[in-house]
Amino acid sequence: MYGRVRRQGTNMIKTVLLDLDGTVYEGRRLIDGADTAIEDMRASGLNVFFCTNNSSRPPSSIAKKLRGMGIPCEESDVISSGQIAIEYLVSNKIKNVYLSGTVQQREEFLKKGVDLVDEEHADCTVITMDTEFDYDKMTKAVRAVLRSKTVVLCNRDRLFPREDGLCPGCGSLVAAILYSSNREPDVVLGKPRTYMMEYASRITGSGPEEMLMIGDNIDTDIAMADNFGSPSILIGKSDTRTCAASLKEISGKKMWTYL
Ligand SMILES: [Mg+2]
Repeated sequence: MYGRVRRQGTNMIKTVLLDLDGTVYEGRRLIDGADTAIEDMRASGLNVFFCTNNSSRPPSSIAKKLRGMGIPCEESDVISSGQIAIEYLVSNKIKNVYLSGTVQQREEFLKKGVDLVDEEHADCTVITMDTEFDYDKMTKAVRAVLRSKTVVLCNRDRLFPREDGLCPGCGSLVAAILYSSNREPDVVLGKPRTYMMEYASRITGSGPEEMLMIGDNIDTDIAMADNFGSPSILIGKSDTRTCAASLKEISGKKMWTYL
């Protein structure tokens, strides 16, 4: 999928954000050439972040997975919608939070100082991707939402790719919970909202025009870059016509060449 990446002398890009599912890997399978492309980007002095709407596992776990695929990665290189949710809750001093999520994500929220409570005491409900979701969890989440002042979503993705095919995304769980509760969310944190790019910008000091987003989803990855005023590259198999148009636009700006 990837060719070798060559950085051109005229470009202003300092920071690259790479989507993960469908861009770097599909489930446990590394996408051909992704490791070399990332190596090339780092060798040319770029900051590289991995940003994912997948909120079922914390950054440390995602970093470990990437290392297992031969891509050097620290926890701080990963920006997930779950991590953005933690930042949002802590910085806004939001208390009495009910988390609809995995056991691993619950441990991460507690470790990072989020004030978690059960569904009977919730003032805020956060819905994250949960691969352990079942009827009992849905019942608790609905009860929490019904009494919450604030409902926060990690994302509304319909699908994500795995090595054995497409799987229902966080948006499917959100739909089940919010349909029962008959309400809309107050905040959505993942792509296409720009919280992840704002976070990377704060860390690196890179402005929107100095950041490049690479992803396989036009509605989330590319839309986030557009919303932040950054260039982007759409890759993948979803729509070759759109891919070609996107690459042409980037090529027109003389930013990247894929050899
Ligand atoms: Mg993707």
